[in-house]
Amino acid sequence: MSECKMLEACPFFNDRMADKPGMAQLYKKNYCMGDSTQCARYMVAEAIGPENVPADLYPNMIQRVGAIISG
Ligand code: SF4
Repeated sequence: MSECKMLEACPFFNDRMADKPGMAQLYKKNYCMGDSTQCARYMVAEAIGPENVPADLYPNMIQRVGAIISG
């Protein structure tokens, strides 16, 4: 496990999303600095490009990934 490769440009990691969930710090630890392959934003970015990651998608929302990727 290592730092997510999208960390520098990621709105979630850089606190540029509209809402900041109370769990943000924990998500950063578990996903951004942990296992980014389990992050919903990472999955969408890898599949269809970072520009297509919804602004309101948080790392734990993996249940939305399938629908986003299939458009
Ligand atoms: S939110 Fe996901 S895509 Fe963004 S830096 Fe963290 S692990 Fe990477």
